[in-house]
Amino acid sequence: MKLTDLSNLSTKRLQALQKSGIYTVDGLLLLFPRRYIDKSNVLPISMARENSGTVTVIGKVVSKQVIGFKQKKRLEVIVRDSSGSLKAVFFKGWRYFITQFSEGNWVALYGSIKRYGNYFNMAHPEVDNISSPEDVKKFEDLIPIYPSNQHFSKAYISNPILKSWIVQILSQKNIKEFLPQSVLSRHKFPERQKAFHIIHQPASQKDAELALERFKYEEFLLFELSMASIKKLRIEKSSGNVMKPGKLTTAFFNKVLPFTLTDGQKVALSDIRSDLESGYQMNRLIQGDVGAGKTVVAIGAMLMAVDNGMQAALMAPTEILAEQHHQTIKQYIEPLSLNFRLLTGGQKTALRRDILTDIEGGNCNIVVGTHAIFQEKVRFNRLGLAVIDEQHRFGVKQRNDVLTKGDNPHLLVMSATPIPRSLAMSIYSDLDISIIKGLPSGRKPIRTAVRTEKDRQNVYAFLEQSVKNGDQAYVVFPLIEESEVMDLKDATMGFEKLKQRFPEFSIALLHGRMKSEEKDAIMKRFVDGDTQILVSTTVIEVGVDVPNASIMIIEHAERFGLSQLHQLRGRIGRGGKQSYCILMPDVKLTKSGRIRLKKMVDTNDGFEIAETDLKLRGPGDFLGTKQSGLPEFRFADIVEDRLLLEQSKNDAWNIIKKDPELELPKHKELKEVFEPYFKERSEFFGVG
Ligand code: ADP
Ligand code: MG
Repeated sequence: MKLTDLSNLSTKRLQALQKSGIYTVDGLLLLFPRRYIDKSNVLPISMARENSGTVTVIGKVVSKQVIGFKQKKRLEVIVRDSSGSLKAVFFKGWRYFITQFSEGNWVALYGSIKRYGNYFNMAHPEVDNISSPEDVKKFEDLIPIYPSNQHFSKAYISNPILKSWIVQILSQKNIKEFLPQSVLSRHKFPERQKAFHIIHQPASQKDAELALERFKYEEFLLFELSMASIKKLRIEKSSGNVMKPGKLTTAFFNKVLPFTLTDGQKVALSDIRSDLESGYQMNRLIQGDVGAGKTVVAIGAMLMAVDNGMQAALMAPTEILAEQHHQTIKQYIEPLSLNFRLLTGGQKTALRRDILTDIEGGNCNIVVGTHAIFQEKVRFNRLGLAVIDEQHRFGVKQRNDVLTKGDNPHLLVMSATPIPRSLAMSIYSDLDISIIKGLPSGRKPIRTAVRTEKDRQNVYAFLEQSVKNGDQAYVVFPLIEESEVMDLKDATMGFEKLKQRFPEFSIALLHGRMKSEEKDAIMKRFVDGDTQILVSTTVIEVGVDVPNASIMIIEHAERFGLSQLHQLRGRIGRGGKQSYCILMPDVKLTKSGRIRLKKMVDTNDGFEIAETDLKLRGPGDFLGTKQSGLPEFRFADIVEDRLLLEQSKNDAWNIIKKDPELELPKHKELKEVFEPYFKERSEFFGVG
C-alpha cells in the first residue's frame, strides 16, 4: 500500500507529509496520537458552557457562515440542543470544515468552550457527523488527537483527515509481527497489528499506554541487538592479545607513584588485568566520580601494553585535557625512560609529520591526544590498547573507530558522569563496567555555599585572603553555545573587573575561542602556580587537574545544570587542602534552580547528584543528546522507561547468545527488521 492510495490525498498534502518526514504508509501509522479526548462524557450545551475543561456536546447545525476578510476570515457554525446553543469557530482549514457541516444535521463537537460577551465559542473542535443523538454511542470513546505542524496546517491536513487515513491503512494493511513469540508472551505485549489498532483507536487510556510500551520496547530491543552484535563482532575479531604486567608496570606502581592506590583503583586495575590476560579483547568502562583517580588507572593499563611490546593511546575530548594528560604522563613515564608523544589537531605540519613517523615506526610507546589520534593518516606500529577518557563526550562510533587502528587493540573507556549502574549497563551494554568507589584518602570534603550579589565584597575579601595564603582560584562563567558571543563578554568583563579589584594578583582569562597554543600556555602557567586566579568559561569542565587550586567561584550559577556544576566543582578539592566552592546566582532563583544549588550545598556525592539531576531533567538534557552516543528514540525515554530498557537489553543478549546470526526460523522476521535497522545506522555505530 502506498501513500497515494489514500483518499483525499492531493499532491500538496503528499508534499506536506514528505516535508514532515512521512514517506510511507508505515510512517503515517507511526504518527501516534499525542493525546486522546474522552467523548464518553457528553454534556448538554448549557452545562457544558459552565465547564472549563474539554467537553463533548451534541447538537443540530443551525447555520454556517464564512465571515471576515483575509487573515481574519473564519467559519462560524451555530449548533443548538434543547438546553442552549454555542458557536463553533474555525480560523484555519475552514474550506475543509465547511464541508463537514450541513444545516439541520446532528453533529458531535469535542473541545473547550470560551465566553466572548454573550457568545459561547468552541474554537477548532473535533467534529463528528452523526445521524441522531443516540448514534454517538456507536463512536469509539477516545478520539485520537494527532500531532500537527505548519506543513500539515498549510495543506489542510486536519485531525479528522489524519484519522481517516490511518483508519484506511489499518483496514487494508496486513502488519507483520517481528518480535519473537516468547518475548511477546513474557511481556504480555499485544501483537504488532493489534498494537497499532489500539494506539490509534484505544478502548481506554490504559490500553493505549500498554500498546505504547510495546513500541518503546521495539526501539530499545533493536538498539540493544545492535550493541550485542557490535560486541560479538569485536570479540570474534579479537585474536586476543594476551598481556601480562611486567617490569614497567611494577616499577610504576612500586617506585614511581608517590601514593598508594585506593581500594577502588585496585579493583578497577585487577578487572583490567584479568581482561588483558583473558585472551579476549577488553571492552571495559571505568566509572568513577570526579577526582576518583582514573588517570592513574589508565596509565597502569597502558604500561601493561608497553610491557608486552605494544603501543598504547589515550584520547581526551579537549586539547586542554590532552595537554594535561601529556604533562601527567611525562611526570610518571620519564623515570621509566619511555617515548611518548602528544598529538592534537592544532599542531604545525612539520611537528605533526615527525610525530606520525614516530608512531608508525613504533618508536613511540604512548600517544596522548584528542580525536586527532584516530584520523586515517595516523598509523600505529602495534597498537595494543586504546583508552578513551571522558567517554560521555563520545559515542559508540568513537569506541569502534578506535578498534580500526592496529590489531584489535584492547579498549578501555573512562567516564566521570555517574549514572545509575543499571542505566549505565543498558546504554553502554557493549562494555563491561568497573566502578571506582570512593576518593583518595586525605581529601577534605569541599565546602559549598550560595552567595548573592550583595555578598560580593565579602566573597572577594575571602578570595583575597586565600590567594594571599598561597591558594589558587577558578572564577567560572557560563558559556552556552547559542549565545557564545554574549557570554564571552561576561567572562571578559568579569576578568577586567577582577584585575582592577586585585591589581597585585596575577590573573588570566581562558576560553574556548582561543588558539590551542594560547590555551596551553595559559593552563601551564596556572598549573605551575604562576597564575593565581584563572577566569574561565566551562572549558575547564572536563578533567583538568590542578591540586593546588582550592577556591572556585561560579558566576551565574543558576544557568548550569546540576551535573555540570558537580563536574566543575570537581576541579577543586584535589589536594590535601580545605576547598571552597561559592555559587553566585545573579537572578531570583526558579524552583528548579533552588533545588539544584541546594543539592550542591548538601552533598559532594556524584552518584547522588546524578540521581537528582536525572529527576529534574530529561535524559536528553542529562546526557546531552549529542553526547550520549545513543540513537534518538522516537517513543521511548531512557530514563522514564529504564526498566523496559533493562529488560530489552537482557532479551537482546539472550537472543544473540543463542542465535548470533538470527538464523533460527523463530527469528526470521526479527532478522528482516534488524538487518536494515543496523545497516542504516552503520555510520552511527561506526561499523560501516
Ligand atoms: P579523575 O578520576 O577525575 O580523572 P584524576 O585522575 O585527575 O581524577 O586524579 C585526581 C587527583 O588525585 C590527581 O591529582 C591524582 O594525582 C590524585 N590521585 C589519584 N589517585 C590517588 C591516590 N590513590 N592517592 C592520592 N592521590 C591520588
Ligand atoms: Mg579525569
